[in-house]
Amino acid sequence: MSVKVMAVNAGSSSLKFKLFEMPAETVITDGVVERIGLEDAYFTIRVNGEKKKQVLPIKDHGVAVQMLLDALISEHIVNDISEIKGVGHRIVQGGWYFDDSVLVDDEVIRKIDELCDLAPLHNPAHLIGIRAFMNALPGVPNITVFDTSFHQSMSEESFMYAIPYEWYEKYHIRKYGAHGTSHKYVANRCAALIGKPVEELKIVTCHLGNGASLCAIENGLCKDTSMGLTPLEGIPMGTRSGNLDPTVVSYICNKLNLNATEVVNMLNKKSGYLGVSGVSNDSRDLEAAMAAGNDRARLALDIQYKRIADYIGSYYVLLGGIDAIVFTAGIGENSPRCRQQVVRRLGVLGVKIDEEKNNVRGEEILISTPDSKIKVFIIPTDEELVIARDVMRLAHIK
Ligand code: AMP
Repeated sequence: MSVKVMAVNAGSSSLKFKLFEMPAETVITDGVVERIGLEDAYFTIRVNGEKKKQVLPIKDHGVAVQMLLDALISEHIVNDISEIKGVGHRIVQGGWYFDDSVLVDDEVIRKIDELCDLAPLHNPAHLIGIRAFMNALPGVPNITVFDTSFHQSMSEESFMYAIPYEWYEKYHIRKYGAHGTSHKYVANRCAALIGKPVEELKIVTCHLGNGASLCAIENGLCKDTSMGLTPLEGIPMGTRSGNLDPTVVSYICNKLNLNATEVVNMLNKKSGYLGVSGVSNDSRDLEAAMAAGNDRARLALDIQYKRIADYIGSYYVLLGGIDAIVFTAGIGENSPRCRQQVVRRLGVLGVKIDEEKNNVRGEEILISTPDSKIKVFIIPTDEELVIARDVMRLAHIK
C-alpha cells in the first residue's frame, strides 16, 4: 500500500518539511516555514515543482503546522490529511539514551526534554515541533531520529575526554557527535556502490557542509567521529573554530573583558571560514575571493583542508586502513577543489582521484583512479529519506 510520510526538522523559529510517498521513496513536496513568531514570517512550499512563497505573521509552531497541512489540501497535494500515516522528526541530541530512532511516547519526550541542557538551541525546538504535529494529527505515530544515535557505538576510549571523571559521571560530559544520520546513510550507499556488505568495509565519511564532521566506520558502526559534546569540536567550519587549546577562551576573556559564554559564542558564530577570511562563511564566496587573490580566503580554506586530512590520517591508523572515503553535504558534494585539496594531502596513503571525474557537483560517483589504494566517492546525503524510512520501520507501516 502506498502511504505518505512527513520528515520534519524543527528549529527554534523554523520548520523544514519533506513529504514522501512511501515505500516508493518519492518526494511529493517540500518547503520551510521561517521566522516563526514574527510578523514577517514566511512559508514556502513546492507545488508541481515550483516554489510558492507567502510572507505573513505566524504566531507559533502550532500555527505553522496547521498552515502546512491546510496548504497540502488547498494545493491538491493530498486529498485528505488522513493520508499522512507517520511523521519523523530530526533530533539533534539523543545523549546516552538513544542508539536508534524510536516511536514517540511520554518517556521519549521526557528524555529529549532532559537532554535540552546539552542542546539548548535545538532540543526545545524539536519538542515544540513534535507537540505541534501531535496536536494537529492526533493518532498519527511520531518517530524521532537522532543525530547522535549512530555514534553511540563508540568505545569509551573514543568518546571520553581526559577530564575529571566526575564531570562525566555528574554532568555527562563526553563526545556525542553529530550528523549521524548522514554518516550512516552515505556509508551504506558506499557499501552498495562497492558491492560488499558494509560490515566488511572500513569507511571514512566526510560530511562537509556549513557544519562539518568526519566519521570512522568499521563493521557499519561508528568507531570515532570529529564532533564532540557539541558541534563546535572537530574541523573548522563556516563559522565554527573546531578544535583549539581551551586556554584561548580564558585568555580572550581577559583581553576583551568577555565571559566564557560570550567567547564560546564567538567560536561558534564568528570563527572558521568567516573568522579567518573576514569574507564569508560560505565556501563559494571563499573560493571566489581566493581566485581573485585574497590570501586570507585561501588560508581559511587551507586550514580546514589540512585538518580534514589530519583526521583522515588518524582514522587510517584507528581503523587499520581505509577502503573508502566519502565526501558529502554542501561542500563535500559540490566543491571539486575541496576534494582535490584534501586528497592531495593524502598522497602518502596512495589515494588518487581522477580530476575529470572529480569535476562534478552533487552526483553519486566514484572519483578515485583504478590504481588508487583507497576508493573515493561523492555521495549526496539524504537525511530526510532516512527519517521517512525509519517512520515506515518503527511505526510498522506496511
Ligand atoms: P550544507 O550545510 O550541507 O547545506 O552546506 C552549505 C555549504 O555548502 C556552504 O558553505 C556552501 O557554500 C557550500 N556549497 C554549496 N554549493 C556549493 C558549490 N557549488 N561549490 C562550493 N561550495 C558549495
